[in-house]
Amino acid sequence: MPLLHAPLPRRAFLARAAAAGLAAALTRRSLAAAATPADPHTWALLSDTHIAADRARVARNINLADHLGAVVREVLSRPRRPAGLLINGDLALNTGEDGDYATLADLLLPVRGAGIPITLALGNHDHRARCWSGLPAERRPDAAAGERQAAVVRGQQANWFVLDSLDRTNSTPGVLGAEQLAWLGRALDAHADRPALVMVHHNPNTGGNRNGLTDTDALLAVLRPRRHVKAHFYGHSHRWQIDRDESGIHLVNLPAVAYPFDAQQPSGWVEAVLQPGAIRLELRALAPTHPGHGKVTELTYRT
Ligand SMILES: [Zn+2]
Repeated sequence: MPLLHAPLPRRAFLARAAAAGLAAALTRRSLAAAATPADPHTWALLSDTHIAADRARVARNINLADHLGAVVREVLSRPRRPAGLLINGDLALNTGEDGDYATLADLLLPVRGAGIPITLALGNHDHRARCWSGLPAERRPDAAAGERQAAVVRGQQANWFVLDSLDRTNSTPGVLGAEQLAWLGRALDAHADRPALVMVHHNPNTGGNRNGLTDTDALLAVLRPRRHVKAHFYGHSHRWQIDRDESGIHLVNLPAVAYPFDAQQPSGWVEAVLQPGAIRLELRALAPTHPGHGKVTELTYRT
């Protein structure tokens, strides 16, 4: 179960890069990043990559593989090498085919060569069994989460709790389920020593929206009373937006790496820097002319 796509040692990376036909410049950039120390407080946050087997595939006027390729190059060029890269679901274009995950693995190869661990969450356009078989298994998630691909990613300043809201492939709403939520409660209690950041593909079902997480209320009932839960990250709606729930939990909607549904919204990713008591989020839009590109938002944690 390839929740974690582990970094590759130099020799293994070079062999795979040659097999995958990775461009020489990108191979060099990856090795250069690997030679710099990782910043334990910096994380690269991606969502909704929607990768198709065919690298030439265009959807809503953008080339999907080019978008992820551009984000990967930028992550490797940032001043601080992140401690990890997380992709919050909808890894695959539509129905999570074997070839989609093979192309995704090739596109992420430079990240692994740079020594950056990758954590993958599933979305409604993924297929759990084909994702697990299509990517090399490096770590088993906690078996107590049932068949779901959920796990804790430990960080120095905070821990990430990456959940699996995939219900039925290519059916829009998502659900965590009672078993995974019970696991989450236990996992949060076992890691109460530092702030908890929770990541789910589907957006909360609020304001009459019924295409997000159908058990939003049950999730919030787990998160709200645990005061060390500081932020809830989600994707699915292909928007960059930050709200705050009534209990003070930050609700962070990550932009899509692929296309936005609304032309005003950016494609891109978010660089997160964890600090004591706060998290700094910088939008990295693929279009540098986007008004939000490079803007930093500091979210102070609830107490
Ligand atoms: Zn999506």
